[in-house]
Amino acid sequence: MSAVITLTVMSLLLGLGLAFAADYLHVEPDLRVDAIEGMLPGINCGTCGFPGCHAFAEGIVDGDVEKLSQCKPGKDKHYDPILAYLTEHPNPDGSFIQIAK
Ligand code: SF4
Repeated sequence: MSAVITLTVMSLLLGLGLAFAADYLHVEPDLRVDAIEGMLPGINCGTCGFPGCHAFAEGIVDGDVEKLSQCKPGKDKHYDPILAYLTEHPNPDGSFIQIAK
């Protein structure tokens, strides 16, 4: 009987710990990443040096991409909407992502 009580208490404590960790460590996703990914060619070829279009979009938002033309399959029809989007969607601190075509 004591084993059941011990396991129940441990389960409750672990559950509370996981709930606290999930709430405390939660990171809000940057919605701009998905938006920018949707404007890329979507080939996931890796020519840009990132492991796919999603990672490239993350690199843009994180400021790790110098030029959009690193995406070789991309054309102006991809780059221009991204540049326009970035001018309309600044970083949380109000600064803008500086990136060349
Ligand atoms: S080069 Fe362009 S199409 Fe290829 S993975 Fe990178 S962002 Fe996607």
